[in-house]
Amino acid sequence: MAYPDFWNPKHETLPREELQQLQFLKLRRLCEWAYATTPFHKRKFDEAGFHPEQLKTLDDIRRIPFMTREDWMASLQEKPLFGDTLATDPVNAIRYHLTSGTSGRTPIRVLDGTKDWDWISEMWCYGLWGFGIRPEDSVYFAFGYGSFIGFWGAHYACEKIGALVVPGGAQTTEARIKQIVELGVTTVASTPTYALHLWQKAREMGIDLATQSKVNKVILSGEPAGSIPAVKRQLEEAWGAQCGDTAGMTEIGTIMIFECSHHSGGTHIIEDHFIEEVLDATTSEPVGYEELGERVVTSFGRGFIPLIRYRTRDMVMKVPASTCSCGRTWDLYSGGIRGRWDDMKLIRGTNVYPSAVEAIIREYAAIDEFQIYFWRKDNIQDEIDIKLEIKPGLENSWSDLQIKLAKDLAQAHEGLRFNVVRMDHGSLPRFELKARRLVDARPIAQY
Ligand SMILES: [Zn+2]
Repeated sequence: MAYPDFWNPKHETLPREELQQLQFLKLRRLCEWAYATTPFHKRKFDEAGFHPEQLKTLDDIRRIPFMTREDWMASLQEKPLFGDTLATDPVNAIRYHLTSGTSGRTPIRVLDGTKDWDWISEMWCYGLWGFGIRPEDSVYFAFGYGSFIGFWGAHYACEKIGALVVPGGAQTTEARIKQIVELGVTTVASTPTYALHLWQKAREMGIDLATQSKVNKVILSGEPAGSIPAVKRQLEEAWGAQCGDTAGMTEIGTIMIFECSHHSGGTHIIEDHFIEEVLDATTSEPVGYEELGERVVTSFGRGFIPLIRYRTRDMVMKVPASTCSCGRTWDLYSGGIRGRWDDMKLIRGTNVYPSAVEAIIREYAAIDEFQIYFWRKDNIQDEIDIKLEIKPGLENSWSDLQIKLAKDLAQAHEGLRFNVVRMDHGSLPRFELKARRLVDARPIAQY
């Protein structure tokens, strides 16, 4: 059956001038509404001497004070359980979620209402449809359906599209693999880490997912790795399927970027529902196209907790819409979410970004699992070990790999030494949801 290419043909191809006009009108209305309904925003706006009437053009967004995770946490602690960020009475909520709390951070408690959920699934529809999900598809969710929001929105989006949903739920990896093959699902939704794990497990069970399953699309979310070219190549080969990256946040409840079926190496920003600013992480000044910066998000759809100029610490690089050939007028993030500014490690005077290290490691097909391990030698010198496991059958490649990987890593880091260490197969931890392949074993607060 012939379907349109876009979920929302009008908005996805809106000339940028009109798009920005739409963003401006929505921004002004959002700020007026948040000021009138949400004590948190009224307080923040008043403190900053900002009033929604000051918004005359889209550039005036810079007058609005930032909202930070720390502000939000402080509000939660002062007024448990949900702080003063809610725009309406908690009795109107229909769902509770928690942020995933990676890097040892306290999770944030979030409430959503009926309108939120309608919008949350609509945002996923943009992404899933854009990647090629159609009513004929059956979509397997390799997802635990817990308090972490993860793929909840994608589940409802599939129902809205008319695709068949298969909730993977709390099962063993083996049971999930059997279902994927038996039911002949066409699509699997998973984190990149778990998609690799499913494939490794299937291989152990003697199942080749590329030939023995009907899966032709894998929807990735939850980790930056979905846009790392080497990870994507590996997954596409393993599954014999196209892999599409998406990214969202529990704070906004849904995705704000997605990769379309044209695979331009970037993820489109859903610009009719979000303003995504990219700012210098230190000076907070806007940076241009093709420059790395921190993404700051304003969401027009969040009904329960207005999210205005929220600092994400996500590292991104914006490129113009014309980078992709699909015809959307929405700008993209080249390489999706590239990591977090918080994650940067200073090792013997050199900046090390774990996501960049991962991208290099992933270029080696013989590596099965790895860990980036920071430690301190003799209490003085910082060291980085790359602990890795070699795929069964490829053990002979170890000695060459050890030398070449250490060289590649050093070259990308001003000559910094990386110790490449081989581990027994199966000795490193495997992850289902969000990978924690970074271990910083150095003593804390040394400065
Ligand atoms: Zn595109």
